[in-house]
Amino acid sequence: MNDKTEPGPGDIEQIRDDIDRIDADILKLLAERKAHSIRIAKEKGIHDRPSRDQSREEDLISDRIATGMDHDLDSGLVNRVWREIVNDSVRIQQEYLGRNERPRQAMTVAIQGIEGSYSQLASQQYFDHKGVSVNYVRALTFADAIAAVQRDEADVAVLPIENTTSGAISEVYDLLLDSRLHFVGDVRFRIRHCLLGIEGASVSDLRRVYCHPQAVAQCSEFLAQLEHCEVVYFSDTALSGKRIRELDDPTVAAIASEEAARLFGLSVLETGIANRDENFTRFIVAATRPAEVPAGVPAKTSIVMAVGNHPGALMEALAVFHEADINLVMLESRPIPDNPREELFYLDFDGKTSDQEVEAVLETLTRQVRFLRVLGSYPSRDLRPKPIERKVKKVAPEGRTALTQMAPSVGSAKGYKLGSRGHKEQNTVVEVSGVRIGGDDLVMIAGPCAVESWDQVMAAAKVVKEAGGSILHGGCFKPRTSPYSFQGLGYEALEMLVEAGKAYGLPVVTEVVSPEDVDGVARKADILQIGTRNMQNFSLLSAAGRAHRPVMLKRGMSSSLDELLQAAEYILSEGNQQVFLCERGIRTFETSTRNTLDLSAVPVLRQRTHLPVIVDPSHAAGDRDLVAPLALAAQAIGAHGIMVEIHPDPETALSDGPQSLRLDQFRDLMLALGFGG
Ligand code: PEP
Ligand code: MN
Repeated sequence: MNDKTEPGPGDIEQIRDDIDRIDADILKLLAERKAHSIRIAKEKGIHDRPSRDQSREEDLISDRIATGMDHDLDSGLVNRVWREIVNDSVRIQQEYLGRNERPRQAMTVAIQGIEGSYSQLASQQYFDHKGVSVNYVRALTFADAIAAVQRDEADVAVLPIENTTSGAISEVYDLLLDSRLHFVGDVRFRIRHCLLGIEGASVSDLRRVYCHPQAVAQCSEFLAQLEHCEVVYFSDTALSGKRIRELDDPTVAAIASEEAARLFGLSVLETGIANRDENFTRFIVAATRPAEVPAGVPAKTSIVMAVGNHPGALMEALAVFHEADINLVMLESRPIPDNPREELFYLDFDGKTSDQEVEAVLETLTRQVRFLRVLGSYPSRDLRPKPIERKVKKVAPEGRTALTQMAPSVGSAKGYKLGSRGHKEQNTVVEVSGVRIGGDDLVMIAGPCAVESWDQVMAAAKVVKEAGGSILHGGCFKPRTSPYSFQGLGYEALEMLVEAGKAYGLPVVTEVVSPEDVDGVARKADILQIGTRNMQNFSLLSAAGRAHRPVMLKRGMSSSLDELLQAAEYILSEGNQQVFLCERGIRTFETSTRNTLDLSAVPVLRQRTHLPVIVDPSHAAGDRDLVAPLALAAQAIGAHGIMVEIHPDPETALSDGPQSLRLDQFRDLMLALGFGG
């Protein structure tokens, strides 16, 4: 008898279906077995017997091995599988009996709110499932809860981020982004709002209801029926319960959880008062270190990005996920504070950063967007594992190949990647208020080395605009080599610079010299400048990488071009992709000029990086009469832009007077470069 025909593709499908069915049966049986383990635990609890009986466990395993051998199964396999099953059963019983012989792992969790708050209830749900016991750090505000983690007083913070009825909790989004904490988990918690009063209170007698604004939004329909009641906003749901306990007044009530009623000895006057029965809040678990997600565990990744405001920008970014067949599960937008024309998009999608396709998508996105930060990958209970691909052969759709054929980055061996041509072939165009740096047109940046007075900066802005310049430069914080030199007028100067820019419709660029000032300067200036003396101030670079403003990075006066690109990488790797570079002269043995303008930097950088490159001949020359020829040379060699210092009266300038062009000289230079005329 020989009917050994090879199975065809159809048969294989059939066999796989059979295997799936068997696996489903095995899982069903394991679940049934688990239910029995719990029944045994109950019995043991009643009769107070220990949860472990090692000799019985060994007998059981021996018996299974023997039966397995009857079925021609490998004894080692049966041994391993049943040991796992028995251990799991013992663990289930121990957990049930609450007398786990191993001490439970303990975590310190920072939450906003007191005992009985939804944050605490959600944390309990999350950590109970993990078999972890919890100590709480109870903070007054969300920011305090985050700070507790940053100060290492808590392992994680658990913070509400969105609700199915009232939407995103924007304050938490903003705080989490600023905090640099990693998302390591999330939990969906069912909120069951109740109306709580003291014993004997009745709904018809109520005159006031204490209520958290989120709860007001979620129970608005119920509250609208309580016409005789005033709604008093309260910062915390559980605290509102505590408050009415203290008031001991039957005319006041609070909206909080049933647990809060129990905790504060209150009566539940009404349940099910939310507009929607399905009222869930999603909490984020955040920690200082990213989570490690084991292979095979369903995971979710949260990112934040800014896409710029050209038509279709968001769609193009989302298409990257679509092409890679990655499921988006959440998209939320937030305005960027002080930057009203831009939005930040928060996205959650299936998969983890270590997945190949996710890695490829993130790489593609960094080439496209203005800002991108991964907030974290974490196991998620909401997700189901992806089904195993069935098709014997799948033809990759157009575009998908582009994602999988990521060129290895030529720069990674040199210590930079995101800035390299290998990462992104196309030139980056840095856009700011309609000015495109890195596009086809030469961009002129000009202004005083230091903003000294209102009249001075206004006179400079006027000539920049009239002569065809695009961006106004002005130093407010001056990084002077000597502490005795003029240090700049700081924020007062920034106000003047911004006003002058507005008056003439010019975006402004100014230098920021310390990480602490990045936020303050980014609030006002359109472009952040990092100067030659700070090119390797890594904390400053990182802070600028977290800002939502383009950054002009000047080459360190003794730095190689690869070091410049590594410095840029500090900015890019924090999320900010809007970076352009500036060659401003380097130190050589030549003393005839202040620095030696390294014009070869332009073509070399253009080979190595997709980032725009501009040239500053003023600081290179140190002498106003040399500025024009060097600027013309920069234009000829392919710089995307030129930055020069100008001053209405260079003789009286408080810094860099000798190299500053007079306003008439600047007009002439602009004509020579082909502007106006
Ligand atoms: C400047 O551009 O104002 C400046 C201080 O330049 P650098 O950092 O190149 O010296
Ligand atoms: Mn200067």
